[in-house]
Amino acid sequence: MFDLIVKGGTLPDGRVADIGIEGDTISAVEDLSGAEAGEVIDAAGDLVSPPFVDPHFHLDATLSYGLPRINASGTLLEGIGLWGELKQIVTQDEMVERALSYCDWAASQGLLAIRSHVDTCDDRLLGVEAMLEVRERVRDYIDLQLVAFPQDGFYRDPTARANTIRALDMGVDVVGGIPHFERTMSDGAASVRELCEIAADRSLMVDLHCDESDDPLSRHVETLACEAQRLGLQGRVAGSHLTSMHSMDNYYVSKLLPLMAEAGVAAIPNPLINITLQGRHDTYPKRRGLTRVKEMQAHGITVGWGQDCVLDPWYSLGTADMLDVAFMGMHVAQMTSPEDMARCFDMVTNQNAQILGLEGYGLAPGKRASLVVLDAGTPIEALRLRPARLAVVSNGKVISRMPREDAELALPGRPETVRRRHKAGR
Ligand SMILES: [Zn+2]
Repeated sequence: MFDLIVKGGTLPDGRVADIGIEGDTISAVEDLSGAEAGEVIDAAGDLVSPPFVDPHFHLDATLSYGLPRINASGTLLEGIGLWGELKQIVTQDEMVERALSYCDWAASQGLLAIRSHVDTCDDRLLGVEAMLEVRERVRDYIDLQLVAFPQDGFYRDPTARANTIRALDMGVDVVGGIPHFERTMSDGAASVRELCEIAADRSLMVDLHCDESDDPLSRHVETLACEAQRLGLQGRVAGSHLTSMHSMDNYYVSKLLPLMAEAGVAAIPNPLINITLQGRHDTYPKRRGLTRVKEMQAHGITVGWGQDCVLDPWYSLGTADMLDVAFMGMHVAQMTSPEDMARCFDMVTNQNAQILGLEGYGLAPGKRASLVVLDAGTPIEALRLRPARLAVVSNGKVISRMPREDAELALPGRPETVRRRHKAGR
């Protein structure tokens, strides 16, 4: 007797199977015809996936669009300035409320694990306190991993260093930084070194906003890889954005990528934001400013798509749907072969789970019973349609349901309802 069976769904690898759940754990992935369950979700013909994972977000700033004004130029630097104004006036309760609302959106989309940076450049650390509270309040349904992020520069801001260490003492999970925003290249490199040492001392992971510029000489990722190797942090370090790599010299990159692979440094491009913010100083041709995704993957480097922003000082759109993120990434990185498209889906599920170090993730016996049922037949169709999440299960509990989005047609001689699902071939 199972508590819940998800019946007849198609898994991302194409297998069709029933998933039997007991308590908060998957206990069977096989044909369960005749088995009894307290509750059954009919997923026949639908895609059943492990939950979506976002490896790069800013939950302390989300849903604040328009406060105290909008970002008129749309640039990264005006966004940082605007956030500086906003954090002087925002209250802790407002931050908690907005973050909880965002987590409702995320849950409805099957996005059940989020790594969020939290700004540590406020002596009161209101954002840190707010996000620690949110982490606690959503823990039954969303894994929230927090990164101590000195937005105004670990050295550049006079109290950022002390505040970042305080935030880690308060229980923030991951060490963050922003080397390209320090005053000089050498300050940036020094910040990478010290932040990696702090992480090694405390056995924490590292995730830096790294080289988020169009300057081909912004090469902090090289120092990050070197430090990861020196300090034995392989597999626990990520570089977010890495947009300067788009503009780097090819010879230099041919040396950099093997170094990153050897050092076990993962990459987190954020395609919605990178395509919006980069290349702003260019006339034409205008650079895309997305890092070298396929090239890194060819070197065996783990790459996961991140969302970064939803309705905040940097980005005026966003949906909490990782399929939107993967859809944009697939286009900008020209990942259009069937293998690459399927990989884009894998990036917002398995690859991102690996970057976060999530335990018990996946659709197999013994894993945590968290999954999402999508109105699509395959991962590629899910990317094309970004369809309804028919059911979302977190730790064995159904936490969200959504109807299919079939349209009712009024066209003579044509079907009464239409859904844009498609089977290849005749
Ligand atoms: Zn970010």
